[in-house]
Amino acid sequence: MKFETRAIHVGQEPDPATGAAIVPIYQTSTYVQEEPGKHKGFEYSRTSNPTRVALEAALASLEDANHCLAFASGMAAEDTIVRLLKPGDHVILGDDVYGGTRRLFEKVLAPFGLEFTSVDMSSLDEVKGALKPETRMIWVETPTNPYLRIADISGLAEISKQAGALLVADNTFATPYLQRPLSLGADLVVHSTTKYLGGHSDVVGGAACTNNDEVAERLFFLRNAIGGVPGPFDSWLVLRGLKTLAVRMRAHCENARRIVEFLTEHPSVSKVWYPGLEDHPGHATAARQMDDFGGMVSFEVASKEEALGVVSKTKLFFLAESLGGVESLIEHPGEMTHASIAESPFAVSENLIRLSVGIEHADDLIDDLKSALS
Ligand SMILES: *Cc1c(COP(=O)(O)O)cnc(C)c1O
Repeated sequence: MKFETRAIHVGQEPDPATGAAIVPIYQTSTYVQEEPGKHKGFEYSRTSNPTRVALEAALASLEDANHCLAFASGMAAEDTIVRLLKPGDHVILGDDVYGGTRRLFEKVLAPFGLEFTSVDMSSLDEVKGALKPETRMIWVETPTNPYLRIADISGLAEISKQAGALLVADNTFATPYLQRPLSLGADLVVHSTTKYLGGHSDVVGGAACTNNDEVAERLFFLRNAIGGVPGPFDSWLVLRGLKTLAVRMRAHCENARRIVEFLTEHPSVSKVWYPGLEDHPGHATAARQMDDFGGMVSFEVASKEEALGVVSKTKLFFLAESLGGVESLIEHPGEMTHASIAESPFAVSENLIRLSVGIEHADDLIDDLKSALS
């Protein structure tokens, strides 16, 4: 079955009890047993819940994975994945990973004895140079935030296999519609389902997918032991989001292309970052490993004042953090999503503006940017 069909049907058979066409929200914490240990596969909802299981089956199918685990947030998924490691283990991560990921690693996990090295993931040589005998995990995001840098997932998979490390790919920006890291050799995919998978800016969630049975079994144990699970309603919202992922992603990509065309011609815009542009340093790799270039676009204007002016003037583009919803968002990374790293070597330009291009009509979005830029 094709992607679009699997998104709507895998794990989503009519409800056996009632014939409900849509997977019900099984809002229950516990399940009745006939005698101790004799039950229909469910005992307690931290361990398992039918609505969550439906979401996991659908998302596993979309990521070409045998196993998927849903979490209460992207960060809960990340924290549980990193607990596959033990004190003394070393992790290589991108120097421009999601700020919350950096905060989790440096502020929460490093004090527990994990060691981290940040490198430019678009350079395989830098990654090789950072390897240590203790390296057990390589953590990659591609495209990255906000410069949309591209890392070569198959190249990283070769390096991690040789090193005996797990390659974890954060696929939040691309989604499985555009990129399937497990098929490119990654061991684990992690998602903030809050973004494109949910797709409507109305739920916070996360997920981890893998084809490694041993890793999956350990993650099931860890998730149940730690408890970062999503509730039935949140699981249901993400499952509903998945059904339209393909059509939404096509619209996001098409609108992003139109907006990139407009921005590259605009006299107030000095630089546009979009992996679909041929002069983007990661374009060739992106063209090889992605089916299209996504809905995120970053661009630079002449000064910080101008950037702050533009983000405050748009009307359709809401000034907000986050991304991946049907509505367009605009933000100033320097003052917003990336403010916590303003003083670090990973700081971003203060003249930078980031767009999460929604699925409104491109003409209206361009008019909105035109009046804000003038
Ligand atoms: C938002 C985000 C996360 C964190 O996910 P939450 O659902 O907010 O916990 C992780 N990685 C990336 C790339 C993100 O954009």
